[in-house]
Amino acid sequence: MDVIAEKAQVLITVKTTPQPSTKYKDVVCTAGVRLGEGGPRWIRLYPIPFRYLDTDLQFKKYDVIELEIRRRHEDSRRESYSPDWSSVRKVDHYDPWERRVDALRDLPLTNTCELSAAAKLHHAAPSLGLGGVADITGIHFETHPGWNEKQKAILSRALEEVDLFGTGEGTKKLEAPRLVATYRYRCTAPACDGHRGQILDWELTALQQRFRSATDLELKRHIETKFLDEMFNSKRDTHFFMGNFEAPIKRDKFSVLGVWYPRITDVETLPLF
Ligand SMILES: [Zn+2]
Repeated sequence: MDVIAEKAQVLITVKTTPQPSTKYKDVVCTAGVRLGEGGPRWIRLYPIPFRYLDTDLQFKKYDVIELEIRRRHEDSRRESYSPDWSSVRKVDHYDPWERRVDALRDLPLTNTCELSAAAKLHHAAPSLGLGGVADITGIHFETHPGWNEKQKAILSRALEEVDLFGTGEGTKKLEAPRLVATYRYRCTAPACDGHRGQILDWELTALQQRFRSATDLELKRHIETKFLDEMFNSKRDTHFFMGNFEAPIKRDKFSVLGVWYPRITDVETLPLF
């Protein structure tokens, strides 16, 4: 069966850090919201050239891009599409937050318990969602064990697949970030007894690269300043961009792909209906 390419307009909301694993086929995740006819819908785009991850050259978060996509039939998650990266054209950037809020407001809100329960019941349940957070206990840190040879090989392969011109720019991405950071939180489900959500946001890796000469303690403080103090405070209406993995055994395990933290005043200025 031929898979027909279609044009899409996507507001990019998520760029994750590489997760080389033999279990999951998707090494990195770029996701966002498809705009236009039919209302906003979640979309996951991969594979993504590594060189797009830490550069604003092609696109950054909250850019609107137009591109050609094909449904990824080898991935049963309904939101997954293969992009033709040569067709990418940046058409807009949504700033300030009001425009972003306006673009996402028709998306249904969910939470981690709900996403996880649905994924256990139905293979084709949503694999992306904007999840409510009731409270945060803190961020738990672990030292990244580094990537073993097998994982490095997976990264290199992923790099070769998409870095056709062999620029080698992705090589530096083979370095693992120093710390793994995991939110401890309760979602908005009434009976929630708590979750651990690893932060996969590329911003976390970029921040660690920026403060590479800091001590572990200093680095943790920098991460907490950004991912707790700035993103969760009394002026923000904060949610998580949640996503799961393709492997059936892990379908009900959702990670924090990014944080959605508009100011409360931006949310409240919207019409109610
Ligand atoms: Zn929960």
